[in-house]
Amino acid sequence: MDENQETEENSLEIIDRETAASYISSGGALDKISDAFEERPVQIELLKCITDAFNNNLLGVYEAGTGVGKSYAYLIPSVLWAVKNKERVIISTGTINLQQQLCEKDIPAVEKILGKKIKFVLMKGRQNYICKRRLMEAASVLDLFEDDTEEIKRISDWAEESSTGSKSDISFMPSENAWTRVNSESDACMGKRCPFFNECFVMKVRKQAADAAIIVVNHHLLFADIESRMNGSGYDDAAVLPPYRRIIFDEAHGIESAATSFFSESVNRFKINKLLFQMYRKRKGSESGHLCSIAVFSKNEEKIEEAYSLISKIKSDFVNLEIAAKDLLAKESTMRLCDSTARSFGPFLVSASELAVSLGNFTNLVHLILEGVSDEDKSVPSYWESKIILGRLENYVILIKNFSMWDEKRQNVYWIQKKRLPPDLLKAGEDLDYVTLTETPLDISSLMNSGVYEQMSSVVCTSATLRTGRDFRFWCGRTGMLYAEQSRVDCKDFLSPFPYEKNMFFVIPSDAPLPDRPEFQQWIEMAIPRLIRAAEGRTLVLFTSYESLKSAYKSATGYLKGFGGLLMKQGDDDNAKLLEKFKNDNESVLFATDSFWQGIDIPGESLSQVIIVKLPFTVPNDPVFTARSEAIEKRGGNSFMELSVPEAVIKFRQGIGRLIRRSDDKGVVTVLDRRIYEKRYGINFTLSMPDCKKCYEPLDEICKKINGFIFQ
Ligand code: SF4
Repeated sequence: MDENQETEENSLEIIDRETAASYISSGGALDKISDAFEERPVQIELLKCITDAFNNNLLGVYEAGTGVGKSYAYLIPSVLWAVKNKERVIISTGTINLQQQLCEKDIPAVEKILGKKIKFVLMKGRQNYICKRRLMEAASVLDLFEDDTEEIKRISDWAEESSTGSKSDISFMPSENAWTRVNSESDACMGKRCPFFNECFVMKVRKQAADAAIIVVNHHLLFADIESRMNGSGYDDAAVLPPYRRIIFDEAHGIESAATSFFSESVNRFKINKLLFQMYRKRKGSESGHLCSIAVFSKNEEKIEEAYSLISKIKSDFVNLEIAAKDLLAKESTMRLCDSTARSFGPFLVSASELAVSLGNFTNLVHLILEGVSDEDKSVPSYWESKIILGRLENYVILIKNFSMWDEKRQNVYWIQKKRLPPDLLKAGEDLDYVTLTETPLDISSLMNSGVYEQMSSVVCTSATLRTGRDFRFWCGRTGMLYAEQSRVDCKDFLSPFPYEKNMFFVIPSDAPLPDRPEFQQWIEMAIPRLIRAAEGRTLVLFTSYESLKSAYKSATGYLKGFGGLLMKQGDDDNAKLLEKFKNDNESVLFATDSFWQGIDIPGESLSQVIIVKLPFTVPNDPVFTARSEAIEKRGGNSFMELSVPEAVIKFRQGIGRLIRRSDDKGVVTVLDRRIYEKRYGINFTLSMPDCKKCYEPLDEICKKINGFIFQ
């Protein structure tokens, strides 16, 4: 922190922790306006800790169990701080659901509690908003041959009426293709030169953000802002967000995966072909695309002639690259470029270099054509569209070149993956299989430390699942908190006030085969329907593999003939709709995988049993996971205990956390994976659970007990 900041820090006024706590204490403002108020000592404690984090410039790591009421516990100090010190606070979440809850329910409630109006805004990435200029251009050149003509018209009609311009407010789901033709993009924004500047949706939300005391964002957008600051914008001026020095990370268990996905880059033939098609295409001898439109304004117009042959070269280079990749992959679906595979990657890397050269030649050509456009002609829409495409193509060139330099860039993981196109998307002459090249950061901890913790005056990270076993070491290590100045770090856990010992029953069938046995799948296909009957439906079955889910679902539909409740599986419908049906039909059952392990909220009787089929270990052929494991082994650690187990524990805790959402919720967690009791590492899972009644008996006994527990 520089001298100026220190002076500013000194002039900040602290907030009184007792006054802050009084708002949610008995007799306080919340008590007066809420009929169902019950003082929660644990919430008051958390609020005081967060207040201290603001006052003393701390890095708070606070695990708050379900029902602690963490949003009031951080919103009240955040608002008090922002108002008193005129210093905005960023609240970053992992899911859109939580953002909506904060903006539609919790912040308005905090306004009532504090008796003050607060300026706050929900800010999304600019790609989520319509760009009026691009929309006008797209609508004015509707091409009968383009698939998205109808959609652009519908988006255009909607934008006329919309007050937000935000994609989430459109009543239909626009396709990726149509949306990316009309959304806002930083490279294509003309800023003050734009004729729509004064009515621009992005500029409107930016103005609101510049004025706001509280800005709600998602982790992705926050990382986009941090990246831009680390790349030179600094921390004192506006970048993607206005400047700030205080962050609250809610759903902080997801920081590592959000940062990993934000800082990853990938490319495949569709991504490149789509951009090339927008730049230049030749149909029946007639040329079109942005390059043609812009060339007439460029003094380098003659360069356009090279475009056609360069594009053909890029396409054939990509075909060669895919052939080399498929030879390399053979029957595997993914492969990482590392010491043990480097030799076999040889032919692939030769093809990659050729592709990088031809793609680089094409971007140089576009540069030359753009450079030849005079300042007066730069308002031509194709000029700005070409700039977006050029930026993306240049990123792909860097990514492809980085594959050849992997040995010097060991801070990243380089890997290829073979995927299959759905047959209905296949065009004549195209190969069903395609290959994606991906670069992913190996570790985000130093980036978090230098880009976030060292720069911010205070950071509070909270979630219901940060601990593994009894401590925070795993989460702190993965997210860089272990490398931050330790005198600033404050880790605490705040236990759920819900009566788990009375309301939750944890069962494991002792006669289940171990999951690595061949008979395991057959056994679970017999056991799951019996467990469902024991709970009379009301069950969420969580799988770690979609194949296993599909097979178990098929068996269950046979076993459960005549069963009254709805039997659903992930993939049958939109996730939100499945969830809605599940909530509305008390006896329904849902077979689900990944996205249902966390973030879903089903209070009440419709969820009385969560079945966890297997402990959620990451599959060992995940290339990023393998690279991270190897890095641990290399420094002498034990990757199973330091990475596999703790990652699985956090996911397991998220899974069981779906069950009890209110103090009067009651139900059973059934784990079909006996390793939790029989392997030494199982203790890490059981220690991370709330205290509750447990049972380890054969399936027959367990089914009786489940029924008795739920319906007693
Ligand atoms: S100001 Fe930028 S984002 Fe807004 S309409 Fe104009 S070009 Fe689009």
